[in-house]
Amino acid sequence: MRNKIWIVGMGPGREELMTAEAINILEEADVIVGYTVYIDLLRRRFTGKELVSTPMRQEVQRCRLCYEEAEKGKRVALVCSGDAGIYGLASLMYELGERYPGTELAVIPGITAASSGAAVLGAPLNHDFCTISLSDLLTPWETIEKRLAAAAAGDFAIVLYNPASHKRKDHLKRACDILLRYLEPERPCGYVENIGREGTKAVTCTLRELREIQVNMFTTVFIGNSQSQILGGKLITKRGYRIERDTVICGDN
Ligand code: SAH
Repeated sequence: MRNKIWIVGMGPGREELMTAEAINILEEADVIVGYTVYIDLLRRRFTGKELVSTPMRQEVQRCRLCYEEAEKGKRVALVCSGDAGIYGLASLMYELGERYPGTELAVIPGITAASSGAAVLGAPLNHDFCTISLSDLLTPWETIEKRLAAAAAGDFAIVLYNPASHKRKDHLKRACDILLRYLEPERPCGYVENIGREGTKAVTCTLRELREIQVNMFTTVFIGNSQSQILGGKLITKRGYRIERDTVICGDN
């Protein structure tokens, strides 16, 4: 039988926001591998497992370790926050897989921060949208700038992942400066910190205000499109439905 590794998206952090399939797989696994913060979140819930954590920035090592454990015949689950195929390790696992032909992979989807954060803010992604990561660790900043400009020119609602890191504090400000070349300063925006975890904080603001905000690495940022509004404190992007005036229809019965 071939070895198997499950690449599991665990959602934003709370168990209720994990899928039943993800929970079943973690219950069945012998070893759970992941980034330190996520392993700590799982420690209490999934007892009796071998839990292996590796720090951030050691992604290749973490993935190799999964293959090595699987080759020993163990059932291995690699956990990623949100969805493992959205700024996660799923593609790297497939790339490395060419060196481990005896091991099969399965990706288990999870709720990504765009979805869980949008739900907290209201309905900011209710039309065409795109996600852009502001991390320039693996992507040149010029490419990120090009994508921001194209998204703004295309009137997409935009979700920004990785708006800040320990080292780079000004990425969001630089991104807002590019967006402000295309969008009005009053464009409705919002951000959510610690989605699905203790201390969830959601804020709505304008693009001009967003430029001045210091966010942290556990924040997801939302920029509305031309049809977005802040209604009753919620950020929403209209789809274009026409709402008729309420009419009273009187019938015979
Ligand atoms: N695979 C993940 C994304 C990993 S990239 C997913 O699908 O959600 C890391 C970025 O995701 C963070 O910088 C932040 O922008 C966002 N993020 C992930 N989890 C989050 C959470 N619980 N609260 C707020 N933002 C989160």
